[in-house]
Amino acid sequence: MRATTIHAPGDIRFEEVPDPTIEEPTDAIIKVVAGCICGSDLWPYRGENPIKAGSTIGHECIGVVEEVGSAVSRTKVGDFVIVPFCHCDNTCAHCAAGMQSACVNVGITQSGQGEYARVTQADGSLVATDGMPDEHHIPSLLALTDVMATGWHAAVAAGVKKGDTAVVVGDGAVGLSGVLAAAQLGAERVIAMSRHEPRQEIARAFGATDIVAERGEEGEARIKDLTDGVGADAVLECVGTDGAMKTAFAIARPGSTVGFVGVPHGVELPIRTMFSQNVGLAGGMAPVRRYLPDLLDRVLTGAIDPGKVFDLTLPMSESAEGYRAMDERRAIKVLLQP
Ligand SMILES: [Zn+2]
Ligand SMILES: [Zn+2]
Repeated sequence: MRATTIHAPGDIRFEEVPDPTIEEPTDAIIKVVAGCICGSDLWPYRGENPIKAGSTIGHECIGVVEEVGSAVSRTKVGDFVIVPFCHCDNTCAHCAAGMQSACVNVGITQSGQGEYARVTQADGSLVATDGMPDEHHIPSLLALTDVMATGWHAAVAAGVKKGDTAVVVGDGAVGLSGVLAAAQLGAERVIAMSRHEPRQEIARAFGATDIVAERGEEGEARIKDLTDGVGADAVLECVGTDGAMKTAFAIARPGSTVGFVGVPHGVELPIRTMFSQNVGLAGGMAPVRRYLPDLLDRVLTGAIDPGKVFDLTLPMSESAEGYRAMDERRAIKVLLQP
């Protein structure tokens, strides 16, 4: 098959690689219908994560089941499926507790920007639609494989409830999804921290009631003003940098929780503030499978349209340009078609 590979920082290729095959009886092979580039793919692209030269890259895709292993019973060849980026058996103690991202049999999609992808734990992981979905639903279904579920997890971890004032730190695809999640979970006021006009527009479409363009201490002061000096009832940290985490804790009201889903890079927690203000921290890698049935229903009924985060669609063969566009912030999120 042909797939997107990474050879060195900035060196993305679309080339011939070995087809993924059934390695375990619980596996399935998916023919990819749409894949996409994740903000976290930019860490190795920028040389901030180690790279195994020539390895496939991409963990977000949807598609049609091509082949299943001998132990797979619920998933059928020909099913159209949402592939959560982290695979799980959905039966172990951690899955039963809603922590599918820490499943004892966890796996990660390896070639979501290629023509085929292997899914481990097919029966536990895959959620099928009722037949082939309408073309216009494809971007939103693709968003469920990671960013929408991750934004949702941030809102759940932060304990967003009806009537709350929620603040979302970060205006990438996950942050924007967090805005949508907070609004869906009943927050009365959703404040999006965003400096970029096109992203502010999507945030508003997703339910943001206020936009704060300032960052750092200025941004924190604006949030304090907007909340009569009290701070936010719930904060969603969707970046993963030390600055974003500092802001999150600075604007969280005493007794609240920061829900964090940005992959942490160089973050130091303000443990003294956490102690004196009784502000908690919850979240981590999203248990995507846990939220999929509910999110799929919300997409199909038109309650949410998370596919709006895709502002550039390219043929998969031009994935290198997709990476450049996201790296240079010319695109929020890039959809790739095989
Ligand atoms: Zn991702
Ligand atoms: Zn499990």
